[in-house]
Amino acid sequence: MKIVSIDVIKCRRLTFSAQTPVLCRINTDEGIYGYGEAGVSIMDFSVASYELLKLFGKMIIGMDPLETDVIYEKLSSTFWAQGNGGVIMSAISAIDTALWDIKGKYFKVPCYVLLGGKHRDRLRCYASQLQSGWKFHDFMTAPGDLGFLREACQAAIDDGYDAIKIDFINKRLDGTPTSRSGGDPMKNYIPKQWMKEYVQRVETAREAVGPDVDIIMENHCITNATTALQFARETEQYDIMFLEEPANPMSPLEYKRLSEGTRIPLATGERSYTRWGFLPLMENGSLSVIQPDLGNCGGITEGRKICDLANTFGVTVQTHTCNTPISIAASLHLEIAIPNFIIHEHHTVNTIEEVREMGLYDYQPVDGYYTVPEIPGIGNELSEKALREPAR
Ligand code: MG
Repeated sequence: MKIVSIDVIKCRRLTFSAQTPVLCRINTDEGIYGYGEAGVSIMDFSVASYELLKLFGKMIIGMDPLETDVIYEKLSSTFWAQGNGGVIMSAISAIDTALWDIKGKYFKVPCYVLLGGKHRDRLRCYASQLQSGWKFHDFMTAPGDLGFLREACQAAIDDGYDAIKIDFINKRLDGTPTSRSGGDPMKNYIPKQWMKEYVQRVETAREAVGPDVDIIMENHCITNATTALQFARETEQYDIMFLEEPANPMSPLEYKRLSEGTRIPLATGERSYTRWGFLPLMENGSLSVIQPDLGNCGGITEGRKICDLANTFGVTVQTHTCNTPISIAASLHLEIAIPNFIIHEHHTVNTIEEVREMGLYDYQPVDGYYTVPEIPGIGNELSEKALREPAR
């Protein structure tokens, strides 16, 4: 079997967030095709993946799509791929995922079979990013008031989830956004009045969901080790499952400092790429959970290796997913096929009709649990509607 062409697809920009999904479809001389997605659509950085996919696409024409490792090494050894930048890795990841889709279809099995089989029948999920609501989108606006937060928590619980994630600090109650810039107080010292507001939100969420629901805190790298430690110490009492992206993942020493100063387990990974990007974070023993995005960490090929590496450090895995149903499907196959899976992220974006109808199939969790697609390949592709609607 040979690769004969690659279609690079820029989808319509999502109406409620700054996301432009970019995907590829790899076509073979046997009529089998596969889909993969570039996982940097947030803030529209996927516009760069679009051009890179065209460039990399030319390099794999005529190659055997079943040789996933060979193709991955070829692309990840190119001049600028060495160093693991997220954008360049997103294009390589999209190609790799599409190749695994082809491989599954060729052997007529779901991808998880090729990855070694199911370690579990279903995947426990958490309802993610409730600061934007649940199943309704107030995306990019502030939680506004504590009532909004309570409502979102209740909606997730009513849907059967027993785990939730919230970014408690991305906006102040008056709607002023906090920032990732070094000039923002969140990078230096959280003023007492702000802290009071943030802690009140955590308290509200805990009260809303009760003692038996897991709460994950998401900092989106808005804090650094100093301010994350301030926040973690104030919120430890609310029994937090783990704290996500408390500092820039390029700074493993900050994670080490944090892990020594708080009882809350730490997580990061959506902005780390390849085994070499993850290794320093695991070597110092600071992480409990890694969150690789199969759309930018190196695809299924490299993603599997990252997960296995994590397992040798006793670190668990939750893939990062907030893109189209294509990358969600790929993630489910990997998560079900690794021993160190902890929980699946079901993002509020993926509950919204506009995103759900981008997939040929609409897989959703039932009572807070996902099952994996049982058809050959990754088990999903872009719908006619998604292909028809022009990019904006
Ligand atoms: Mg995150």
